[in-house]
Amino acid sequence: MQRPYNFSAGPAAMPAEVLEQAAAEMLNWPDANGRLSGMGVMEMSHRGKEFLSIYEAAEADLRELLAVPANFKILFMQGGGLAENAIVPLNLSRLRATSGNGAADFVVTGTWSEKSLKEAGKYCSAHLAATGKADGFTAIPPAASWELRDEASYVHICSNETINGIEFQSLPDLKALGSKAELVIDFSSHVASRPVDWSRVGLAFGGAQKNLGPAGLTLVVVREDLLGHAQSVCPSAFDYKTVADNGSMYNTPPTYSIYMAGLVFKWLKRQGENGLTGIAAMEARNIAKAELLYETIDASGFYINGVARNARSRMNVPFFLRNESLNDAFLTGAKEAGLLQLKGHKSVGGMRASIYNAIPLEGVQALVAYMREFERTHG
Ligand SMILES: *Cc1c(COP(=O)(O)O)cnc(C)c1O
Repeated sequence: MQRPYNFSAGPAAMPAEVLEQAAAEMLNWPDANGRLSGMGVMEMSHRGKEFLSIYEAAEADLRELLAVPANFKILFMQGGGLAENAIVPLNLSRLRATSGNGAADFVVTGTWSEKSLKEAGKYCSAHLAATGKADGFTAIPPAASWELRDEASYVHICSNETINGIEFQSLPDLKALGSKAELVIDFSSHVASRPVDWSRVGLAFGGAQKNLGPAGLTLVVVREDLLGHAQSVCPSAFDYKTVADNGSMYNTPPTYSIYMAGLVFKWLKRQGENGLTGIAAMEARNIAKAELLYETIDASGFYINGVARNARSRMNVPFFLRNESLNDAFLTGAKEAGLLQLKGHKSVGGMRASIYNAIPLEGVQALVAYMREFERTHG
């Protein structure tokens, strides 16, 4: 049976193969050699050899897929992207401070980075370095215009704004901008959709539920020399050094979500596209998907996307019907056609198609066929 295509922004579609494998292993997990453990993954001690083998494979596969350098730690945490908005300043704001709680600069390109700035202000001096608000968050303010402070320990960006549909097509080079700060990226909604230039990054974080697996798991990738600078009030379970020193097992990690993400990593490693594999294959596929959808929107007089072309997200594509009174009919018809969860975020309105890794090109082809037909019958 062809399942409907699910365009949810998160929690989001998972590859069917992964769900099938998890279902088959639910009651009695087999190891890599097919030996049955007698337990489901949810029932295992996080310190037992069975779960440790799942954990170690997940970490190694992710490190290989994202080409994470050896001097970066991969941490599997809880709390989601929003908790990281507090955990990052609690750990990093004092990196370059000689006294007090230190400072961080924020480039605000949409809803998520706006939240990050606000939350960080509780824990350190948080400064708005640039914002795209005046243009309704439709473009990324040019890096040369960012007001970066000498005292900032880090500069925060949201490298893909899930709600506004804005994506950095390359990460800023802070050194070239004359800054000594570390770059922190919230890559929740495009992690594993494209390669990461780790030479420009000090720390990256993301909730798993957009592109990696189920909710409950938060990924943090952090350069080792940034550990050990937490504010004294930082909760122990959220001190990156404590988490790293304990192999993400200072407290019980989200074991089942790690297992599911591990299955997604194995699925990613099996993907091939035009001779490419892994993340490069996903990137090629994601470019093709996004081009097809944006071309369809731009070629019509019926749909609009107002984001500057060089800032358009490959993962989250908000669009509007010029005649908004047709919104409900569009959504009802989409559901009947097997195209789910296309309603835009309530703060933006209209529609949004999130086309994460688990959505194949065929899913976007089905969506654009529906959009063209709806335009033909309602335009
Ligand atoms: C979804 C999302 C978050 C929030 O994650 P939670 O897990 O709900 O805390 C943060 N940042 C971005 C960019 C997101 O897309």
